[in-house]
Amino acid sequence: MKRREFCRSALATAVAATIPGQYLLAGESQHGSQVMSAVQAITASGKETTLEGATVRELRDSLRGKLLLNGDDGYDHARAVWNAMINKRPALIARCEGPADVVHSINFARANDIRVAVRGGGHSISGKSVCEGGLMIDMSDMNSVRVNEKAATARADGGCLEGHIDREASILGLATTGGVVSHTGAAGLTLGGGFGRLCRKFGMTCDNLIGADIVTADGTFRHVSNDENPDLLWALKGGGGNFGVVTALEYQLHTQNPIVTAGDLVFDWSDARNVLSYYAEYGNELPDELNMNVTLLTTSDGERRVAVEAVWSGNLKDADKALKTLRSIGKPLADTVKTVPYTRFQTRGDNSNRHGVRQYMKSSMVNDFSEALVNEIIEIYRPNPMANFFFMQAGGAVSRVAPTDTAFPHRSAHCNMMRWNKWFDPESNEQRAQRIADVKADWTILEPYTHGFYVNLNDDNEKKTHANYGPNYDRLVEVKNKYDPTNLLRLNANIKPTI
Ligand SMILES: Cc1cc2nc3c(=O)[nH]c(=O)nc-3n(C[C@H](O)[C@H](O)[C@H](O)COP(=O)(O)OP(=O)(O)OC[C@H]3O[C@@H](n4cnc5c(N)ncnc54)[C@H](O)[C@@H]3O)c2cc1C
Repeated sequence: MKRREFCRSALATAVAATIPGQYLLAGESQHGSQVMSAVQAITASGKETTLEGATVRELRDSLRGKLLLNGDDGYDHARAVWNAMINKRPALIARCEGPADVVHSINFARANDIRVAVRGGGHSISGKSVCEGGLMIDMSDMNSVRVNEKAATARADGGCLEGHIDREASILGLATTGGVVSHTGAAGLTLGGGFGRLCRKFGMTCDNLIGADIVTADGTFRHVSNDENPDLLWALKGGGGNFGVVTALEYQLHTQNPIVTAGDLVFDWSDARNVLSYYAEYGNELPDELNMNVTLLTTSDGERRVAVEAVWSGNLKDADKALKTLRSIGKPLADTVKTVPYTRFQTRGDNSNRHGVRQYMKSSMVNDFSEALVNEIIEIYRPNPMANFFFMQAGGAVSRVAPTDTAFPHRSAHCNMMRWNKWFDPESNEQRAQRIADVKADWTILEPYTHGFYVNLNDDNEKKTHANYGPNYDRLVEVKNKYDPTNLLRLNANIKPTI
């Protein structure tokens, strides 16, 4: 070696040796000196497998965010999802801090044939965002929102909650349709469709999706818009988490007064039939700016009530006129409708729908809210403070999109009907079995009145999912075949690839 070359390489070695992590001792890694043990895991198809310590360490070293294993600080918090009935232990949790972390996680899962769950806000009631023994790709640390006021658009990271978008848009007098509980994940909600208090005015949340960044199952980072990968944009509008991990969502925003007229009209059970009949008959004819979600509930002293949540998002001076008919049905026991900041109203259900309660539910779209269905509901709903019906209104702008324009096909829906039970005692198997059986029994009576379901809310299977997507199923299979031919992403209302 010539003298000058030797000096250069000796200098390089000396400099490199001062950079932490550049030279590692046996057993050390970039993130610490701990030698990692092998981890028992589950493959995509559900078989047991062992991941060698070095393989796990490689994943850990590739991430900017933390990789959590059973026993690590934060592991139990990260694996907990909204519905406390779900108690699963992933082998690994990747707390992603950027798209690169998602790429490495997806590549790891594919290379090692490991089951994958993707967590946004954790609200999947059937618990699809966590898995036993697999890799949970946790997006919740990726949650910034940037609003472009001039273009009236918002770009939200893939782990944002609905409330994050509402807040940032609202300070600029803008909004898009968001869910009714502010801690619901924006990604899961948008990919499933997205009902909300503004959907009759601005369409489903997915109708306002104008672009996305996504890491597909081959580990490729792609931008999605009308011009780039338009097949994916169509599929993301209702096709759920089948096609990749979304790292950012771009929404169209609309001018919206940050103050709305909103609140509840609460009726005695003796008015229930009249209120439900009014909702059934006139629900679709109301102005787009009026949204009504109806709850059947039982007070703690056993009295049944019907609560109509009314939100008028139009001109404030027209609110009383819009609400006149509703107010004339029966005699409301309470009328709390008043002007209120939209973002505050959007958080009103956050506590009553808090994380950590055990829940079981069935839900489906109702297209024809017939008198026969009203009768069944009145008959079925027995006093029980732990049991509810909830009707989330559709119609308006939702119905003006053709069923095949987006993957979400349920454009004729009057509302999404939900029947659910909750319970608090984690130890009581009897209570659990009873609550689940009650919902299932009611659903056998109600299901014939319904048409398809809202993905992520229910237990589903291949046959139900096929029927649910109806005219869009074959096209969804084509997109799945192209972007996830091995069905790496299968913990969702799964579109099975056919190649
Ligand atoms: C209290 C409560 C209120 C709700 N309110 C509404 C409402 O007002 N309107 C409405 O339409 N729905 C509502 N839902 C239903 C909700 O939209 C779905 O449960 C949805 O899946 C929640 O999204 P998430 O990100 O919180 O779910 P998670 O449980 O985190 O994820 C569910 C599924 O979504 C997919 N997913 C999540 N994040 C990503 C990502 N970044 N990339 C790719 N796939 C991803 C995955 O397939 C995952 O399995 C509500 C649910 C609850 C529990």
